[in-house]
Amino acid sequence: MLPFLGEIYGNPSSVHHVGQRARAALDDARERCANVLRCKPSEIIFTSGATESCNQAIMCGAWLGREKGRHLVTSAIEHHAVLHACEYLANNAGYELSVIPPDSTGRVPAEAICEAIRPDTALVSLMAANNEVGTLQPVSEVGEVCANNGTLFHTDAVQAFGKLPFSGMDQFNADFVSLCSHKLHGPKGVGVLFARSPLQLPPLIYGGAHENERRAGTENLPAIIGLTCALEHFVSVPIFSAQKLSPLLRQMKVVVDRSEFASFRGNSSFSLNNTFSFSLKGTDSIAALSAFDLEGFCVSSGSACSSGSVSPSHVLAAMGVDSTEANALIRVSMGRETTKEEIDAFADAFPRVLHQICRPTTSPTACE
Ligand code: PLP
Repeated sequence: MLPFLGEIYGNPSSVHHVGQRARAALDDARERCANVLRCKPSEIIFTSGATESCNQAIMCGAWLGREKGRHLVTSAIEHHAVLHACEYLANNAGYELSVIPPDSTGRVPAEAICEAIRPDTALVSLMAANNEVGTLQPVSEVGEVCANNGTLFHTDAVQAFGKLPFSGMDQFNADFVSLCSHKLHGPKGVGVLFARSPLQLPPLIYGGAHENERRAGTENLPAIIGLTCALEHFVSVPIFSAQKLSPLLRQMKVVVDRSEFASFRGNSSFSLNNTFSFSLKGTDSIAALSAFDLEGFCVSSGSACSSGSVSPSHVLAAMGVDSTEANALIRVSMGRETTKEEIDAFADAFPRVLHQICRPTTSPTACE
């Protein structure tokens, strides 16, 4: 990325020679991404990240599908980048929204999504893997049904790249696929929206004619180069390898299952290799995050934390988990450098941390 912050700082739209070098690098990056993703370069729209990709897919995909009707189908466990965009259309643009719940492991049944599709369904959106509990979703089955009846289909595949086997964009059977680079060790603030040709997806952001008139704004070239390198290095052979990470997941599950205060949340058969989640009783996620942090572990909550308050995880709530426990979801994400020694240290700290923060409750799920 460094040359593009220095010597080749030019704007790809500038006519002078530095601009033209930047233009050549941008075109080359698009070709290289298309090679990895096994799609056409023209099907790639570089964006500021998956929030933007998902918003464009939903807002503009719904508009593209408007001739069929104004009905949308999605799942209750989508990232807010999808859910809030769908809710905006339902609340402000006359769309009707069907939100399909998952089972208790976080898996959304393909049949339930497909049964919700109607002749007036403009767009269906189902994520490839959930970001809070790691559960994989039946995306290609749903995509096939959509393709057979001419309904547009988007998948938020952010969590799949670098983690699941990848044979090409066709594996999702989707018209639109969202991804971002920082989930596979690339830089933050850059992503891709794949839009299957010959669909003419309108822009979400208006202005110049960048990205083939589908996304206005000067391209963030250093980030696009970083994204391209991350895709090239980490996707075809997933960087989050099952061979290395699955035993570590199993180790964490044994530790959690031993505790009276912790419950594993997710699906042991259909899951990402690097994501492990559990909920706690008798505490909340702020206390737990701080206590793990003091022990040196940077874990996350599934909830949106702001100003010291948490709202319960909408994913756990949809999985039928009581709201006090949904308020205490902890997610452990492993990376390519995570070692067995680190997970041993986590297993060692786990009972100590829970002893500090969890209090037995009179009702099994009440928060202190
Ligand atoms: N979708 C999923 C499943 C995610 O995990 C994330 C990020 O956490 C996003 C969308 C949003 O991505 P970005 O942070 O690139 O906007």
